[in-house]
Amino acid sequence: MIVILLGMPGSGKGTQSKRLAEKYGFNHLATGDIFRGEIAAKTSIGEKAADYLKKGRLVPDAIVIEMVAGKIEKGSKYLLDGFPRTIEQAQGLAEMLKGVGSAVDLVVFLTLPKEEAIKRMASRRTCTKCGEVYNVTSRPPKADGVCDKCGSPVIQREDDSEATAAKRLMVFEDLTHPLVAYYKSEAAFHEVDAAQSPEAVEAALSAVIDSTKAAR
Ligand code: AMP
Repeated sequence: MIVILLGMPGSGKGTQSKRLAEKYGFNHLATGDIFRGEIAAKTSIGEKAADYLKKGRLVPDAIVIEMVAGKIEKGSKYLLDGFPRTIEQAQGLAEMLKGVGSAVDLVVFLTLPKEEAIKRMASRRTCTKCGEVYNVTSRPPKADGVCDKCGSPVIQREDDSEATAAKRLMVFEDLTHPLVAYYKSEAAFHEVDAAQSPEAVEAALSAVIDSTKAAR
């Protein structure tokens, strides 16, 4: 089963994907996390991607598609988080899935007002090592600036700063939002209100996944 979670930055894609991957046994493929890992490890992909992440711009489609293609295996269940982000990436994904005898089964769009996304990004803090996500008001780490899970420093992502977050929302509207129309005609498509509590969002996503599984 191949599931795509779409949503603007701050809509909770990462948090929900981790929960759902654990619950359903999906391989969680988060391109943003992969790029941050490659940048930290100073690989050639990391070098190519670093400046785009810093500025809140999208890494060029060819680089992203090649990187994801190297990670898709026949017969595996994937939850795609942050990919595809453009129509060209969606077409690249369809091709690579065809190559392993598969296709997208479900696309869920997490909806959120822009003002709420900006607020969430401003209060988000992220572990520099394991990527665990915190919130300065609703879920701070137990010890200030230290990850509960792995003990590494917890910081504000450079691209969550106010100016870059605004840029990322513009990029979302221009390049990623068109995927909503694209997938409405291509695959099972649902919307879930991401302004609800994380538990309510998880329940709504689980219901959609369960009904898609039952219909297969
Ligand atoms: P995220 O963690 O999903 O918010 O992604 C952080 C950043 O990584 C984005 O602002 C982009 O610079 C880059 N990135 C992640 N996924 C993609 C993608 N599918 N296409 C292009 N750039 C991406």
